[in-house]
Formats: sequence, C-alpha cells, structure tokens
Amino acid sequence: MTEPSGRRRVLHLAASFFSLLVFLFFVCAGGYWLLAHPQSPVPTHWNPLRGLNVTAPVTPVTVFQMNRALADETQCRAALSQAGAAFTEMEDLVVDQNCGIAGRGLLSRLVTADIRGVETRCSTTLRLAMWEHHVVQPAARDILGTDVRALRHIGSYNCRRMRTAQGTNNGWSSHATADSIDIIGVDLGDGRTLSLIDDWATPGPQADFLHRIGRGACDWFRVVLGPNFNRLHADHFHLQGPGWGYCR
Ligand SMILES: [Zn+2]
Repeated sequence: MTEPSGRRRVLHLAASFFSLLVFLFFVCAGGYWLLAHPQSPVPTHWNPLRGLNVTAPVTPVTVFQMNRALADETQCRAALSQAGAAFTEMEDLVVDQNCGIAGRGLLSRLVTADIRGVETRCSTTLRLAMWEHHVVQPAARDILGTDVRALRHIGSYNCRRMRTAQGTNNGWSSHATADSIDIIGVDLGDGRTLSLIDDWATPGPQADFLHRIGRGACDWFRVVLGPNFNRLHADHFHLQGPGWGYCR
C-alpha cells in the first residue's frame, strides 16, 4: 500500500528538519566543549568564555571580555592584578545617591606606566590600563621612539555637578562616581614631559602623539573630551567610562 504522495513529502520534510536540528545540536555542543574545556585549543583572547587578559592582543572578543570584567568587580580586580597594575583595594566610599566610589581602590601603577596615587573605581582603572597598553605605549614607541614612564592626571573622584562652557549644569558629573579621570599629559622614558596645554597645538611629533592617544582613547572609553571639544578641556582629556559614545 502506498501513502498519498503529499503526506510522504511532509514526512520527508519533517525528517530532514529533525536531522538538521540534531546536526546543529552537535555543532553547538562541540563548539561549546571546544571553548569550555580546560585544555581548550582556542587561545584565551579569542575565547568569549575566558576572562580578560589586559596585555593579550586585541581581538573581536576583547570588548566582550572587557565589558564582563567592567560589570564584575572580582573579574575586574583579577584582570588588573594579572596585568601587574597596582590598584590597592579600599572600602567603598558611600556619600549619598549622587556621590561615592563603588569598587574603590588606590591606583598607583598601570601595566608599565606609573601614575600619582589616585582613588578611583576598578572599572575606570581597567579602561585606563587597556588604553595605556594598547594605545599610549605603542604610540610613544612609534612616534617618539621611547616609552611612557608615567601618566599625569588631575583627579578622578570629585563630588560635583557637570561643568559646561556656559556655567554649571544641573546634572551630576561622572566624576561624582569616579567614572572618569582627567589626564593632562605624560612623562616619557627619555626624560621629556608632554602636556596638552603646551604641546597639543604645536605641529610636530609631540602633538601627533597626543592627538593619536586622544583618538585611541575612544576605543576604551565611551566619552572622551579634549582640547578640540571646548576651552574647559584645553589642558586635559576627560576619559569617561559610561556614556553615549561621544568622542571629541
Ligand atoms: Zn573630567
């Protein structure tokens, strides 16, 4: 007895679909196993299931790994200590609903550059470490033929409202939660000191270096404001973690 051909076609289609599901299941399970296995052959910096390694080459997986570390203080501190950063744990600073420092620490060294001791958040420190290692040091080697010995800053935490070119705005500054840090220049390995106020606008390698690290900060911070933005930022880069993706 033969079945009506229409019904046979439906059965055939259902069987094909089921085989495809089984096939996809094994592909996914195999892929997951390949990533999750402790001896996974997939390098850490290509493996989305692994933690961030600050000094590993940047891959399409890096920002995903960084975002996870930014959201988890334990992962954030682990990534910093693995990278050799000096970020001494401190008790959270609780002031009120507008001001305070969660994930607080005392930062005094990034991956290789020093920084004058500054109280800030782990997330701000992690972004700064990524910027130092992947933007600042390579730019110094390429353009100036030396390395950066120290980053110069004028503070991170400051319980205040936003400042605008017109005056003070009603909103609270990201500095009120230490989600930003202001960088005014660098000390180089060869003894030179560069500052935004003196070197930004004078054409030459020093300005090229400052412009490149300003643009490159946008890869690791969501809001970057510098001398091109307004006169309030003539002497520093405002590097801010959370925000709307504004880069000037
Ligand atoms: Zn600022």
